Amino acid sequence: MLVIYSLIIILAFTSFSILVLNNYKNTQIKNIEISLFQTANIVADTYKRYMENIVSARIMVKSYGKQASSRILVLNSDREVLIDNLNTYLGKTINNEEVRSSLQGQSKSGLYSLNGREILQISVPIISKNIDEDRIVGAVLISASLDSIHKDIEGLKRNMIKISASALALSLILTIIATNNMTKPLKELSYGVEKIFSGDLGYTVKNEYKGEMGRLIEVFNRMSNRLSNIEKSRKNFINTISHELKTPLTSIKVLIESLSIGENSLEIYKEYLDDVYKEAERMEGLVNNLMKSIKLEDMVLNVKEENLGQILSSTIKPILPYAEKNKVKVIFHSIEETIVKCDKDRLKEALLNLLDNAIKYRDEAKEDSFVSITGIKLQDKILITIEDNGIGIDRKSLPNIFQSGFRILEDNSQNGYNIEGYGIGLALVKNIIDKHNWEIVVKSTPKLGSLFTIVIPLH
Ligand code: ADP
Repeated sequence: MLVIYSLIIILAFTSFSILVLNNYKNTQIKNIEISLFQTANIVADTYKRYMENIVSARIMVKSYGKQASSRILVLNSDREVLIDNLNTYLGKTINNEEVRSSLQGQSKSGLYSLNGREILQISVPIISKNIDEDRIVGAVLISASLDSIHKDIEGLKRNMIKISASALALSLILTIIATNNMTKPLKELSYGVEKIFSGDLGYTVKNEYKGEMGRLIEVFNRMSNRLSNIEKSRKNFINTISHELKTPLTSIKVLIESLSIGENSLEIYKEYLDDVYKEAERMEGLVNNLMKSIKLEDMVLNVKEENLGQILSSTIKPILPYAEKNKVKVIFHSIEETIVKCDKDRLKEALLNLLDNAIKYRDEAKEDSFVSITGIKLQDKILITIEDNGIGIDRKSLPNIFQSGFRILEDNSQNGYNIEGYGIGLALVKNIIDKHNWEIVVKSTPKLGSLFTIVIPLH
C-alpha cells in the first residue's frame, strides 16, 4: 500500500516537473528569439546606414555581438559574408535555410544541434528602400547558444528533485501517521468485538477519537452497554420468574403436606384447597404474562383507520373502578376528531398497561393521587400523554424500564413498596409502539411522578 502510494507521488511529481521544465524552456527560447530578432533588425538598420563605410559597420556589429553574446554575420545578396563579429567567415558563402528565406524577404528562425549543444539561429532581410521599389540587399544572420538556458534548467531540475524528495518524505511520514491513526482505533474496536464475542458484555473502548471514528466507537460502546443491560434483565427476569414460581409451588407443597398428615375436618380441607387454588391462580397469571410477551415478539398488527378519541375513552372506562378503589383520580382530556392508522386492540392494551402502572405505582403518602391521560394534536404529530404523581423512577433505572423482566424491585421494597408484577408490562408497551413505528418517551422523578408520552407522527 505504502509502495503504491510512494509510486503515485513520484509519478505525479515527475510529470509535474517535466511539464514545468518544458514550459520554462519554451518560454526562454521564445524570449531569446524575440531579443535576437530585435538585435538583427538593429544590425540590418545599422548596416544600411553605414553600408558605404564598411569599417564603421564592422565596429558597430562587433559591439552588438558582444552585447548579445552571439555570432552576427552580415551577408550580401549573393550570400557572401561581408561582416563577421568573430572574423572567421569573412568572404565565405553561406547557404542555409534561414539565409535563403531572408533573401526572399522572410525572417526565419531555426533550432540546431551542434556537437551536443543547442543553437538558435535567426535571420532577417536587409531591405533598402528606394523611391520606386524596395530592394533586398542582404541578410543578417545571428546564432546564439542555448547553454545558459540548459544551465538554468539543470539548476531548476536539481531544486525540483530536492523539493520532490522532501515532499515525498513528508507525505510518507504523514501517511504512516494517518495509517497508524486509522488502524489504532480499528484494532481497539476489533479487540472490543472479540471481548463481546467471548461474553464480556458491557466492554467499552476508550474513546479518544474525533469525527466518524469517534462516533463509531461511541455507537459500539452504547451497543455494548445495551447488550450488557439486556443480559442483566434476562438474568433478572429468570430470577424473578423462578422466584415467583417457587413461592406458590412451595406454598402448595406445604399445604398438601399439611393436609396429608392426620385427620382433618372438611373446613380445613376447604380452606387449604382454597389457598392452593389462589396460589395456582397466581402461577397461571405469571405463565399467561410470559406467554403473552413471547407471542408479542412475533405479533402482526391489524392496522386500520381508527378514531383516537374513542380508543382513549373506551380504554379508560374499565379502569375507573380499579382507580376509584385505590383512591386515584382519573383525569381525561380527550382529543378532537382524530383518525390514526393503528391496531386498536394493541393500542388499548398498551394504554391499559400504562394506566395500570400509574395506579399501581401511586404514592401512598399522597392524598391526591391522580393519573391524567391527554391527547394532543400538533401540526406534524399526535401526542398521547399518561402522567401520574406516583413514586416515580430513579435516573439509573429509567433507561432499562422497557426491557423485558426489568423491575425496580429492591429499591421499591426498600422504600416500603412491594408491588406485584413480572416486569413485562412496559416491554409489551414498547413492542406495540415500535411495531406501529411510533415512539414512546418517558420522564420521571422519584417521589414526584412519571410522564409517558406516545409520539404518533403524521405523514
Ligand atoms: P411490572 O409493573 O410488572 O413490574 P412493567 O414492565 O410494567 O413491570 O414496569 C417495569 C418497572 O418500571 C416496574 O417494576 C416499576 O418499577 C417501573 N414503573 C413502571 N411504570 C411506573 C410508574 N408509572 N411509576 C413508577 N414506576 C413505574
